[in-house]
Amino acid sequence: AAKESGKASLVRFEPRMRDDMINHATLAGELRNGIARGELRLLYQPVFDLVTGGLHGCEALVRWQHPQRGFVSPVEFIPVAERSGLIVPLGAWVLREACTQLAEWQAVHGAGAVEAVNVNVAVRQLRSAGFVDEVAAVLSDTGLRPRNLILEVTESSVVDGWQVRETLQALHDMGVRLALDDFGTGQSSLSLLRAFPVDVLKLDKSFVDGIAEGADRGRLAVAAAVAQLAEHLQLKAVAEGIENQEQLNRLRDMGYRYGQGFFMAKPLPAADCGALMAADPVQVA
Ligand code: C2E
Ligand code: MG
Ligand code: MG
Ligand code: MG
Repeated sequence: AAKESGKASLVRFEPRMRDDMINHATLAGELRNGIARGELRLLYQPVFDLVTGGLHGCEALVRWQHPQRGFVSPVEFIPVAERSGLIVPLGAWVLREACTQLAEWQAVHGAGAVEAVNVNVAVRQLRSAGFVDEVAAVLSDTGLRPRNLILEVTESSVVDGWQVRETLQALHDMGVRLALDDFGTGQSSLSLLRAFPVDVLKLDKSFVDGIAEGADRGRLAVAAAVAQLAEHLQLKAVAEGIENQEQLNRLRDMGYRYGQGFFMAKPLPAADCGALMAADPVQVA
């Protein structure tokens, strides 16, 4: 539209755009303070073995309890953190906190009680100098073995170029495991699997949503194909966002060994997640 208007080729300044910019700047400032004041905390969503019902690991999911706004969703503030660069210190805190928590769980419940903690990592972190050293330092400080840590990255972040590739390769060589999050929603899934040292595929929730009575055949086909792909490439397949028994059954039949979702457990405070480690396997069948 700006092009068509000829010499007056200015983009119209929509009031909503200004609101968004103010909101972004405000939120970024508040987030900076919030991090300093300790307003962030982590919840942990259990990842279950769908065959045994046992707990496999936990995904750390950040929460922001804002003093005035109340609870702010990561869907809102993670993009703000990414654009402002705050994701680097925020992500560093998440990584250290999650690894410290896993070490504590293993000390209390035994190393076999929970195999891994999953930590989401933004592309900005992967691109920041010293990320590999930071991960190594956290592992050494917490005494975790590298394979206890699973870093979740999205397809869009790994297409970011050779620098990110080298970072991921170095992490993988260290023994840290890498998961492709929201798998199936990106642009170049298949070629990525050859170019990057991936260990885990996490099928995006949108495909799991397609599994229901009178199912959407297209999404069902993708879900099944991703499980096959994981099997052939000897990757772990995780389905996320399982909300009912039918989805669980069908995904397990397709070959998903692992799953997470509200049907089994929502993201939980660390203490509640720890209690699961002492408990019997969940009922999966
Ligand atoms: P994600 O990594 O794909 O995490 C899964 C999201 O799906 C989580 O939302 C989780 O609560 C939600 N979920 C899991 N099972 C179900 C289900 O059965 N039904 C429904 N409706 N939702 C389910 P959450 O915690 O709001 O996080 C949203 C996104 O924010 C995450 O998606 C991730 O991309 C980002 N995020 C969260 N914590 C961090 C973090 O520490 N660092 C970074 N970089 N990103 C984070
Ligand atoms: Mg994730
Ligand atoms: Mg995901
Ligand atoms: Mg997601």
